Amino acid sequence: MEHKVVIVGSGPAGLTAAIYAARANLSPVVIEGMQPGGQLMITTEVENFPGFPEGIEGPDLMDRMRKQAERFKTSFIFSEVGKVELRPRAHAIWTDSEKLVASAVIISTGASARYLGIEGEDALKGRGVSACATCDGFFFRDRDVFVVGGGDSAMEEANYLAGICRTVTIVHRRPEFRASPIMVERVRSRGNIRLELGQVPLRFEAGPDGTFEAVILRDVETGVVRRAEGHGVFVAVGHSPNTGIFSGQLDLDEAGYIVTRRGTTQTSVEGVFACGDVQDHEYRQAVTAAGTGCMAALQAQRYLESI
Ligand code: NDP
Repeated sequence: MEHKVVIVGSGPAGLTAAIYAARANLSPVVIEGMQPGGQLMITTEVENFPGFPEGIEGPDLMDRMRKQAERFKTSFIFSEVGKVELRPRAHAIWTDSEKLVASAVIISTGASARYLGIEGEDALKGRGVSACATCDGFFFRDRDVFVVGGGDSAMEEANYLAGICRTVTIVHRRPEFRASPIMVERVRSRGNIRLELGQVPLRFEAGPDGTFEAVILRDVETGVVRRAEGHGVFVAVGHSPNTGIFSGQLDLDEAGYIVTRRGTTQTSVEGVFACGDVQDHEYRQAVTAAGTGCMAALQAQRYLESI
């Protein structure tokens, strides 16, 4: 069976696209991916999604979006996409168990947290090394942790952890932060956040019990290398777009994000639209993802009417 619209990814962008496509009678199929609901499923309080003045938990918000998409007859497939062949009018998509063919495809596969790629990091993931304070911060109550990074994510993670942990030490490779002044201000005003600026993490070391025990730091100015001990480390050095399966088929920018025509969600292939974080390294907000999801569905609808 040939589908009108297949949506790959089920975060705010994909689910908003589904709500719009379903209401336009396009019977969308959403392939959910391995983390249905996307990054908001590992977030606690969302305070800036309009319409929720008291805030809302990330998973609760995604559950509501999913129910709204279901109400208008969206079908869901719980699977990852292994391969695609994007050919105008008959795009082929392989899940774990089947092949789908669609006239239009909306890509909303989002982005994933990046790691440092240093020695000890992989082996200690889940053993003191994490990229998500809201997921794992709880395990470090009254303990001493590091946050690596100098952007808004690092500040946000540090602030969150400061409410749980005994001390939080932000390690940043440059003397100045990239984060917005208000976020830096908030961090500086907390009594239990320390700053280690101009420090490059070289490797993570485990203690006798096999969990994280220390980070080895190099001072960029003096070159001095030292060992700093703690109970955990949260890596907050940005995100990478989930575009591996599209490389060679769609135009991607140098960081791997899908290139869309300015002011639209149109990709380099006819009938393929991209929305949310997979095409946006700048705003990365739930509300902007939802906004571009709406755009993608409306563009897909117009495209289908035109062919
Ligand atoms: P950014 O790209 O802004 O920051 C990444 C940070 O990690 C930089 O400080 C960078 O250092 C550092 N870094 C990168 N690679 C390495 C490495 N290999 N070793 C050491 N340090 C490294 O990513 P964010 O995730 O912080 O933010 C992305 C976007 O999302 C931004 O636009 C941000 O404003 C937004 N955002 C907004 C929030 C809010 O407003 N509430 C919350 C979170 C994110 P350097 O500075 O030297 O390049």
